[in-house]
Amino acid sequence: MSFPFSCPFCQRDTTITKSNYFDIIQYIDKDSKDGILALRTVLTTCPNPKCKEYTIMTFLLKAQRDAFGKYSIVNEENYLEKWHLRPLSLAKKFPNYIPKQIIQDYNEACAIINLSPKASATLSRRCLQGMIRDFWKISKGRLIDEIIELESKIDPISWKAIDAVRKVGNIGAHMEKDINQIIDVEPKEAELLVQLIEILLRGWYISKHEQEMRLNSIIQIADQKESEKKNGK
Ligand SMILES: [Zn+2]
Repeated sequence: MSFPFSCPFCQRDTTITKSNYFDIIQYIDKDSKDGILALRTVLTTCPNPKCKEYTIMTFLLKAQRDAFGKYSIVNEENYLEKWHLRPLSLAKKFPNYIPKQIIQDYNEACAIINLSPKASATLSRRCLQGMIRDFWKISKGRLIDEIIELESKIDPISWKAIDAVRKVGNIGAHMEKDINQIIDVEPKEAELLVQLIEILLRGWYISKHEQEMRLNSIIQIADQKESEKKNGK
């Protein structure tokens, strides 16, 4: 058993194996409206030796019982509810050269994905619009018009990702309206929007910043060589 994992504490992409993974399933067969239930709690420890933080999540799933009385989960992917117990919010830490308002909207969108997917998606759309306006200087009123304008300015994969999320269920229908309008969405859709924001924060702000840092260090090295030459070294 092994699967890829992105640690919410140190942000490293790692691989989780049996040695840093624990899960426990409790079956509850008490005549609920959803039938037999399963509570599955998963604990993963980050393999990064400098981190070793642990993440805990609990899923509520539909379960079944076979003719021999053995319980099993109906469909692992199709959970009824999911709780992030540790850390409570999956918001990633982003550098402070990204505008405060954008980070604030992103953090709040992360914190309420399950509590209120509607409010989360509304904040994510506001965050996306804030980024398009701040980073690309495109401001047109409706988010959909700004996304259309954006197509000629960004790399095709980023644009396709934005467009793909726009097409997802309710989010798509409401990207075309005012961003302050409250929309009806599922937690999974709200999570997808948050993931898009993370990819764009990295792809736009962080990439640009890192490129500037690298270019500046090249300029500095070249300047140093130049002055060494002048000083006859
Ligand atoms: Zn970690």
